[in-house]
Amino acid sequence: MPAAAATTTSDRIHISACPVCGTRDFRPFVTVGPYSVVRCPSCRLAITNPQPSDRELGEIYGPDYVLVENDPVGEAMVLRSKRATADHYLDLLAAAGVPSTGKLLEIGCGAGNVLRQAAARGFDITGLEYSPYAAERARKTLEGRGRILHGEIGVLAAERDAYDVVVLCDVIEHVRHPADFLRDLHRLLKPGGTLLVVTPSLDSWSARVLGSRWMEFKAEHLYYFSPSTISRQLTGAGYERIALHSGTKKLCLDYIAAHFKKYPVSVVTPLVSFLHALTPAPLSNRLFSIVASGLVALARKPGAPA
Ligand SMILES: [Zn+2]
Repeated sequence: MPAAAATTTSDRIHISACPVCGTRDFRPFVTVGPYSVVRCPSCRLAITNPQPSDRELGEIYGPDYVLVENDPVGEAMVLRSKRATADHYLDLLAAAGVPSTGKLLEIGCGAGNVLRQAAARGFDITGLEYSPYAAERARKTLEGRGRILHGEIGVLAAERDAYDVVVLCDVIEHVRHPADFLRDLHRLLKPGGTLLVVTPSLDSWSARVLGSRWMEFKAEHLYYFSPSTISRQLTGAGYERIALHSGTKKLCLDYIAAHFKKYPVSVVTPLVSFLHALTPAPLSNRLFSIVASGLVALARKPGAPA
């Protein structure tokens, strides 16, 4: 029916209480396209409010949503960067004393690059992916190793106390009900199991420098955390021993230039293009560590590991 296809804003979802602290009185913060982002005056969580409707989100999460280049050189560059970043997250788990022999679940596994690196270290891997396109791609990446499920978290409801590690990379900011979601993951973890959360941070240098032009302000990001708000959200969902790290990504200038070409940011995109054009190929292709826009939180489910 034509009426159903028309864009309306009436089915957008209003958030009445802060999911971290319960405060009901928000302050204006920034505008992201047609959406307003407000800030909780008590805990400083930023909330897209009202939030895009399910249909609006469905239009955003199309086949192109996961950054995949058609040019094979571009794809190799993206893969190299994503796998090096995945190794960094796995190194953080190892440094926290988590053995790489257990069962690891990644929610929102995308094209499966974190799972691939985890399988190479010895983890028994499971991935859950909402996008059927990305799930299919993850199966190709893993070449028969582990298990890739397609759907939402409800498909794992029967697997209580099943996982040693749950990984959540750039997912929690997309979730409508983060507190409920973290409690669902808590049930999936074994006692003593570890959750690793990667999410953009409002306290990152890029957020502070870029202000309202921060590249993480996107219509599909429903919440914007910081070390303090993610810690409170995790504690409230039953986790303990929370450890926070700056989100380090392994990038090269070629990757950064491709990213800002796909997601233009005024001033930043022309500046990055200019630097990229000046940099000789061997240098622009070299991976380096950059503390970019995110945070990494490790949290434990109480109880002794089996
Ligand atoms: Zn709050």
